[in-house]
Amino acid sequence: MKDIATASRTKEILQKHGFTFKKSLGQNFLIDANVIHKVLDKAEINEDTAVIEVGPGIGSLTEQIAKRAGKVVAYEIDQRLIPVLNDTLGPYDNVTIINEDILKADVRGMIGEEMASYKEVVVIANLPYYITTPILMNFLMKNVPIDRYYVMMQKEVGERISAVPGTKAYGSLSIAIDYYTDAKTVQNVPKAVFMPAPNVDSIIVEMKTREEPKVAVEDEEKFFRLTRGAFVQRRKTILNNYLSLFENGKKHKPEINELLDDAGIDPVRRGESLSIEDFAAIYRKLENFPN
Ligand code: SAM
Repeated sequence: MKDIATASRTKEILQKHGFTFKKSLGQNFLIDANVIHKVLDKAEINEDTAVIEVGPGIGSLTEQIAKRAGKVVAYEIDQRLIPVLNDTLGPYDNVTIINEDILKADVRGMIGEEMASYKEVVVIANLPYYITTPILMNFLMKNVPIDRYYVMMQKEVGERISAVPGTKAYGSLSIAIDYYTDAKTVQNVPKAVFMPAPNVDSIIVEMKTREEPKVAVEDEEKFFRLTRGAFVQRRKTILNNYLSLFENGKKHKPEINELLDDAGIDPVRRGESLSIEDFAAIYRKLENFPN
């Protein structure tokens, strides 16, 4: 039988099940197996790999993963797709479909129960674009034991995720991702490989989870507040952004100046020029700072 990831088979499946797309759930299905093969080649998965997929849709990507990986667990929120997936993925006995919202699912528990015997746990997904960042941050901040990620997303978000200091796309999201992972963009994906074609361009991002976070900070929430605070107004200096971040702005101006000085950061620099190590240096000087 033809791959699910073809226009003709996809149309056939949609027609057979009377399925109509829900835009609100970010439903754009892959209809080109070549793109999928490229991602899977890059991910180097094999029978020792357990894969978590977010949003299998009608199973286009799931099918190709199932042919290479030892095990696939796919979380799909749309109940209407469950009978479709049972039909399309029927021939693959290493696939489990869970009808749950990925943001509410106990993924750690599932990994412990179903994936403990595999060498590696890898997330491979064509993510629903409306919640790309919450999905990734949820996995990362909860330290869900995932070794690597190969995820398709809106190009602009992918560029922010993998951006380095001094570039336009660099911001608090780049830093949060860099804290937990080594992230790189893999390749652009044209709109034409999706049905229906989305309005935005797409990109594949690889993220390898670090053994330890890139910098040592005790309170991650506090650290991320500090990094976010530096980008609230991108054109402003770090000093001015921090005057707004810490209450009673003016009152603390000398202290903030001193804090930045102590951390070795020129207060007139902008957040976009600061590396994660620079922010960690500021964070460490914060200990005795009123906030
Ligand atoms: N993997 C399929 C493909 O590549 O053809 C479908 C990808 S489509 C971009 C995103 C999928 O995620 C849809 O099937 C959608 O129903 C599902 N989805 C949306 N929000 C979700 C959530 N919170 N949890 C799990 N699945 C979700």
